[in-house]
Amino acid sequence: MYDVIVIGSGIAGSVAARVLAEEQGKKVLVLEKKEHIGGNCYDEKDDHGILIHKYGPHIFHTNDEEVYEWLSRFTDWYAFGHEVVARVGEQLIPVPFNLNTLKQVYGEEKAAVLQKKLVDTFGMGARVPILKLREQKDPEIQAIADYVYENIFLHYTMKQWGQKPEEIDPAVTGRVPVVISYDNRYFGDKYQGMPLKGFTAMFEKILSHPLITVKTKTDAKDVLSMGQEGKFLLEGKVFDGAVIYTGPVDELFDCRFGRLPYRSLRFDFEYYDFPDYQGHSVVNYTVSEEYTRITEFKYLTGQKADGTTIVKEYPFAYTGAEGEIPYYAIMNEKNNALYQKYAALTEQLSDFHLLGRLAEYKYYNIDAMAAKAIALARALS
Ligand code: UDP
Repeated sequence: MYDVIVIGSGIAGSVAARVLAEEQGKKVLVLEKKEHIGGNCYDEKDDHGILIHKYGPHIFHTNDEEVYEWLSRFTDWYAFGHEVVARVGEQLIPVPFNLNTLKQVYGEEKAAVLQKKLVDTFGMGARVPILKLREQKDPEIQAIADYVYENIFLHYTMKQWGQKPEEIDPAVTGRVPVVISYDNRYFGDKYQGMPLKGFTAMFEKILSHPLITVKTKTDAKDVLSMGQEGKFLLEGKVFDGAVIYTGPVDELFDCRFGRLPYRSLRFDFEYYDFPDYQGHSVVNYTVSEEYTRITEFKYLTGQKADGTTIVKEYPFAYTGAEGEIPYYAIMNEKNNALYQKYAALTEQLSDFHLLGRLAEYKYYNIDAMAAKAIALARALS
């Protein structure tokens, strides 16, 4: 009845399903455990009519023309350059730390001297990861590195990961480098913005194809089981097609080697009956508070409203308890090795493919995920 089963309807699953249906004429069944599509990109109007991201802020940005064109078939964009500030004492300073931040922190005169040094060392426009900046020998650059490390990275990273910046994969803090320019935008990409009518509306269009059937509130475990010779059984009958799985891989095997560690988040939403809470889409709390950041949605989406909804993010270690959601893989040597043990088990499964942040134990952005999903779907014949 179906040619391919896709488990999960987030960016990975939805994009793969569309390409399979549209380009390959495959009949695709998408199984989604949640009551809605879109995975953690899902957005909806809250009780006050404000469009919120239920699973934390997601902002699209890319330099990948193909992905941009592909997604643009399913949405128009509210194009804006996302900016973030960090609350440091009484100040709000631009993040990533850049030449504007330098001026604010050190004052005009001192900043001019330091700027020259930074530009001479790295070049105008350079993006320097904090852990690289800390390796510099020059005492003045070291002092800047210490400031940035202490006021932007250390406490935020301790909250987010339960570990220091130097203890986690360097690519993670490298996502938010020190930027040698006057650009206050959080991302350096050519295209950035939000789907004009929201992510959910975009996902609805992606999945709206005569060859795609979506079943929400359907746990794959309840309809799929493992049969003989690595084949799956769909409702008891042997299923001969490909299976794309976008969930945590350890759960496929009852966590037999132990749980794969992920970071989770608790989101506390608050509505206010006045138009403006913080004047910024995102304020990072890099030295104080238990939450990492506060997002004010109307600044992300451009929505006009008399009231405003914000969300505070409280990170914690995922335990697998009912209702918890794994958001971030904690990539390090030990965890990656554990992941590889589970991934190796899937090699015995027939025509089975791991795709996505959870299934691949990776830190994908939306654009990279879409690119990977398109590539996988095209490679399946
Ligand atoms: N980070 C930080 N302070 C900040 C912003 C980021 O320490 O003000 C570090 C932190 O470790 C975080 C990582 O950089 O997890 C990546 O940040 P990003 O904003 O890309 O995280 P995401 O939005 O994906 O949660």
